[in-house]
Amino acid sequence: MQKNIKKQNKTIDKLSKLVYNIDTKKEREEMKMTIYFDMDGTIANLYAVENWLPKLRNEDASPYTDAEPLVRLATLARLLNKLQRNGHKIGIVSWLAKNSTENYDIKVTNAKIEWLNTHLKSVQFDEIKIGKYGTPKSTMVDDINGILFDDEEPNRNEWKGKAFDVDNIIEILKEIA
Ligand SMILES: [Mg+2]
Repeated sequence: MQKNIKKQNKTIDKLSKLVYNIDTKKEREEMKMTIYFDMDGTIANLYAVENWLPKLRNEDASPYTDAEPLVRLATLARLLNKLQRNGHKIGIVSWLAKNSTENYDIKVTNAKIEWLNTHLKSVQFDEIKIGKYGTPKSTMVDDINGILFDDEEPNRNEWKGKAFDVDNIIEILKEIA
């Protein structure tokens, strides 16, 4: 009888260890999620470029390269590098211009990549997704449980993981890092 209880206790011990291990692994996976950034209106001030809308309608991609940064870039880059060192991935999820042609899509994609190379040169993005205007962003990315920073409320609502507006990007990243 005594022996049986001992045996049972051992099994319970093993089981609780097993559960514990599963929990910590899950926790680790949750912690190391991808952090995604929208570009226009989130990190790049497209809408402040003079005549941005007529230019876009005219298939001129210059507003995308001319857009001023909306965040302190040196601080952002330092934080993104730190997050990656801690195992997080960093991604971009951004739309092309509304009602665009295939030719303009290519120009806009190149302009967006150029903006990232100019302003966040030290950041090696794990994922850059640039897709058709209006595509649900949760369907564009690899990590659907990731974090999204996006200035548009419908995008934040549609997102499956945590989504934040653009007001406290640096402060939120500091908390995760
Ligand atoms: Mg936006």
